[in-house]
Amino acid sequence: MAQRLREEIFQRAPHVELVCGTEDFLQLPEFLEEIEAEHERVVAVYGQLSQTLDRDVSLRPDRYHAYVSVMRGCDKRCTYCVVPFTRGAERSRPVADIVDEAKRLADDGCLEITLLGQTVEAYGKSFGDGTDLGVLLRQLDAIPGLQRIRFITSYPGEMTDSILRAIGEVPKACEYLHMPAQSGSDRVLRRMKRGYRRDGYVDVVARARELVPGIEIASDFIVGFPGESDEDFQETVSLMEEVRFQNAFVFRYSPRSGTPAHRLRDDIPEEVKAERNEILLRTQERISLEKNRARVGSIVEVLGEGPSKKDASRQMGRTRTHAIAVFRDPRDRTGEIVRLRVEDCTALTLFGRVVDSAE
Ligand code: SF4
Repeated sequence: MAQRLREEIFQRAPHVELVCGTEDFLQLPEFLEEIEAEHERVVAVYGQLSQTLDRDVSLRPDRYHAYVSVMRGCDKRCTYCVVPFTRGAERSRPVADIVDEAKRLADDGCLEITLLGQTVEAYGKSFGDGTDLGVLLRQLDAIPGLQRIRFITSYPGEMTDSILRAIGEVPKACEYLHMPAQSGSDRVLRRMKRGYRRDGYVDVVARARELVPGIEIASDFIVGFPGESDEDFQETVSLMEEVRFQNAFVFRYSPRSGTPAHRLRDDIPEEVKAERNEILLRTQERISLEKNRARVGSIVEVLGEGPSKKDASRQMGRTRTHAIAVFRDPRDRTGEIVRLRVEDCTALTLFGRVVDSAE
C-alpha cells in the first residue's frame, strides 16, 4: 500500500507523517529523526534495502516466534496482484545469512520461525546452483534450540517433490502448507494468470499428502473475479469439497489500480460476491468441523502461546499443522511444547487435556 499510494496517504489521512515501504523499514530510526528535525513528512518507498537484513533479533513482538524473510519480490504475474509492480523480481537471501539469523534467534530463546516469501518454494532459484527450500530446511533443522520451522506462502506451480520430501523428512519442518488456490475454475485461473490449472493444484495436494504424512493444507480464495459465472463458482465449491482444506480465507475481489485486472470490468455485483463469500465460508466451516471431529481422541503437540483470548483461565497454542488448541493447566505453558489429547472441538478450535509423554 505504501508503495502504491505514496503521498496520497497524506491526503487521505492528514495525521500521518511517515509513509514507509516494505524495503525501507530498517531505516525507520533515521526517518523519525528527520521528521523531528525538519518537521516535514517523509515518504520512503524507494527500496534501498540490501539483501542482508542485519536485524537485531532481540527486537521482536513474540519471544518464542519470529518471522524470517528469505526472499523478496515475485516473478509471477497474477493479474489481480500488485506485488510484482511494488516489490520487483524474486531475490533470495543467501542460505548462510538466513541460518545465521535463525541461530541468533534461537540463541535468544526463539523456538519457532516462519520463513517468509511471496512464493516461498521459488526460494534459491535465482542462485542457479540447485539450492531450494528443501536445502534451506535441512540446514535450519540443525540449529540447536529451534523447535519448529514454518514457511509461507506456498505456490503450487513451484512445489517440487524434492521440497515435499524435505518437509516430510526434516523433523522441525511443520506439516502445513498455506497454498492459495484462488479458484477451482480453469477459466478463472486462466484469467487470473495463476500459472496452473485445477488438476495441477489437486495433483500437488495429492503428492504433498503422499510425501508428508499428516500434512494439512490451508487455502485462499477470491470470489467475484471479473467474469466469474455461477458455473465457475460451483467449480470452486467443488474444489473445496474435493481437497478438504484445514481452513480457508475467502476474499471478495476488488480491483487494485495498476494491475492488469484493473482494466477488466468489475462485473460481479456486490450482493453476488457477498453470497458466494458466505457459501464458501459455510462450506469450509462444515469441512473444518468434520476434520476436527475426526481428531478427537488423538494427541497433538502444541507450542504454548499464553492465555486464550476468549477465556483467560485457559491457555492456547498452535499445533504443528497451525490449528488453534485450547487447554487448561495450572502452570503457565507459554513457550513450551505441550502434548494434548483432543477431547472436543469447534470448526476453528481444538480443546485438549495435557498428557504426559508416556500416554
Ligand atoms: S498473487 Fe502471489 S504469486 Fe501471484 S503475483 Fe502476487 S505475490 Fe506473486
